[in-house]
Amino acid sequence: MTDDALPDLTSFEAVLFDLDGVLTPTAEVHMHAWKTMFEQVFVEWGVEAPYTESDYFEYLDGKKRYDGVSSLLRSRDIEIPWGDPSDDPALNTVCGIGNRKNEVFAGVLRAEGIAPYPGSLRLLEKLAAAGTPVAVVSSSKNAEEVLAAAGIRDRFPVVMDGVIAERDNLSSKPAPDVFIEAARMLGVDPARTAAVEDAISGVKSASAGGFTLVVGVDRGVGAEALRNAGADVVVDDLDAFVN
Ligand SMILES: [Mg+2]
Repeated sequence: MTDDALPDLTSFEAVLFDLDGVLTPTAEVHMHAWKTMFEQVFVEWGVEAPYTESDYFEYLDGKKRYDGVSSLLRSRDIEIPWGDPSDDPALNTVCGIGNRKNEVFAGVLRAEGIAPYPGSLRLLEKLAAAGTPVAVVSSSKNAEEVLAAAGIRDRFPVVMDGVIAERDNLSSKPAPDVFIEAARMLGVDPARTAAVEDAISGVKSASAGGFTLVVGVDRGVGAEALRNAGADVVVDDLDAFVN
């Protein structure tokens, strides 16, 4: 589909946005936080093989936080107790180290901020000018902090994030629950609403939720994979919807 065939997103009842990779390049902050944290840990523990960027892709990317910690430490022949998700970030358990990464992530966000993708910001401005309601649908428990650091929190009357999903026992993406609940909170009908996602699981979630238009943003997953998951249109950047 060429750009001039793209639908006008202001013609929908609302537009629901995933956050990480759609509105903000959050992965870069996560990578930076993992690096900072493991460099400190390796120095403290006298681990000889330094943390490298390939460690991120090999052991951390796409994994749940604690699973990632455990698998990276195993690559250095380090075994520590798993601990508990409530562990203090200072504790040398898998969960403690994982929680420490979250603290570092918040610190990096505060210190350096995060700029939204320019094309996404322009689309948000266009939708705001047209009076089209928008919401965020994110699996992240850091969504509020990321939106605040990006300076775009005020634009969203509804932010359905990992904290609300856990509190309300909503199944995570690719189940449709979080998108459907966000539409309910915003008071809009999925059958007249568009959803924007960059991940396979997210596209599947919105598609299963009956959203009338599912936009895939290809930040590296691949257009075909996003289409196969249920995306109606795929763009490289949301700038494509701004004219
Ligand atoms: Mg995403």
